[in-house]
Amino acid sequence: MNDLLYTVNKQCPLCQKMFTVTKVRNKLQMVKQDSDFCTTYQELNPYYYTVWVCNHCGYAAQDTYFADLPPAAQQVKNFLKDKKVNVNFSGPRTSEQAIDTIKLAIYFGGLGQIQASRLGGLYIKLAWLYREKQDQESEHKALKMAQRYYEEALEKENFPIGNMSQYTLEYLMADLMNRTGDTEEATRRLSRIVNNHQARLEKRIFEMAKELWYQIRQQNNEEDTQAPV
Ligand SMILES: [Zn+2]
Repeated sequence: MNDLLYTVNKQCPLCQKMFTVTKVRNKLQMVKQDSDFCTTYQELNPYYYTVWVCNHCGYAAQDTYFADLPPAAQQVKNFLKDKKVNVNFSGPRTSEQAIDTIKLAIYFGGLGQIQASRLGGLYIKLAWLYREKQDQESEHKALKMAQRYYEEALEKENFPIGNMSQYTLEYLMADLMNRTGDTEEATRRLSRIVNNHQARLEKRIFEMAKELWYQIRQQNNEEDTQAPV
């Protein structure tokens, strides 16, 4: 196997059996980070390995919360009961396999009623995998789903959400809106951050929000000057 990957044994919270997961060593060299935090590394794409899949019962969830049973675990158990499962996602994954594992985690996440922010996080990673493949239509569809779940998270969940503060999530949503063409709402949200004294304390996000706000304004001005009078 690739020397950047290694395997560990984990117990499935659903069927209790042990299975092998493939993890990425923490020594990748970052090439770039997009405005929605999608990070590209030189050696490989670690998002390929975000989701763990139990090869006994087929349950799939993101690595960071795999061990937690979903709130509606019984629904997932009922669904998987008596199903013949023939999956094995250990070892190096292709882009297609990675997409399949994220879709599985989204499916089980919905069935198990996991938090909206977790579904948002899975959809944004799905979008990033489509971005890598330059499949813009699928990327935008996934970004819109991420927006929808993040919106719900913003209303219902307490911060920090994952490692995101409220302003980080507001900024991220504005960025996703800009990417999917809703520049008006993106600008409205960015203005709220840029004009907020509290947000200034989160220097990095504040600067990113300001930059995106200027960028959208510039785009709009260019469109205005190009439009026929
Ligand atoms: Zn299992």
